Amino acid sequence: MYQKLLEYQEEDRKLKTIEDAYKTNEDYKKYNVAVRFLKTVTETKNQIEDRAAYLLSELEALNKKYDRLAEDQTEFDEIDDAQEESTVTFLKKKSQELSKAFADIEKEIEKLNGEMTELVAQYKKLSAETKAMKEQYEKSRESVEAIRKTGESEKAVITKKLEEIAKQIPPELMAKYNAARKTSKFPLVYVVDAGDVKHCAACGTEFSTLETATLKKDKFIECENCRKLIFLK
Ligand SMILES: [Zn+2]
Repeated sequence: MYQKLLEYQEEDRKLKTIEDAYKTNEDYKKYNVAVRFLKTVTETKNQIEDRAAYLLSELEALNKKYDRLAEDQTEFDEIDDAQEESTVTFLKKKSQELSKAFADIEKEIEKLNGEMTELVAQYKKLSAETKAMKEQYEKSRESVEAIRKTGESEKAVITKKLEEIAKQIPPELMAKYNAARKTSKFPLVYVVDAGDVKHCAACGTEFSTLETATLKKDKFIECENCRKLIFLK
């Protein structure tokens, strides 16, 4: 049962070596960072632009409000000042209200302008980063293409072999193997002697009586702890 899986693992290990070579290659890392950045930067810039447009319309509305208040004040100033006492009190109150309304609007405008300045700074920073990332992309692209050129053709050959071997392995076993591959390092398949059924040969975890019995009976167990596949010879 395990012979084919061992064969698969040996071939798959070659694939993993190529994949790891990609992952640890500095140019490849830089390349991926640049690609990811450039993919999302347009969206981020659009978001900033949308927010800026919104702020501008808010500012415009506030400026109009400010102008209307200024008109009110002019009318108010034109009122004759020889008035009765009740009128004077009213006018004083009205004057205070106007001053407060002006102050509130000024505060709001100041706040919006502050946010606008921040947005502009963000946009500038993003543009500078975009320029740097484009350069990084260009610099790393050539070596990544070289790695890919050899790597991808090697990978294709191996993948084809793996597909052939996998045809001779039960799918549920393949699924377990693939699950282990995602989380664990090679080797993923272990073959043990009859004297070695009480512990996981990969991680050393002690098996329960039931697990040991299962391993003896089915000649196979998937370690609960490390997910590796343990076969009995
Ligand atoms: Zn284990």
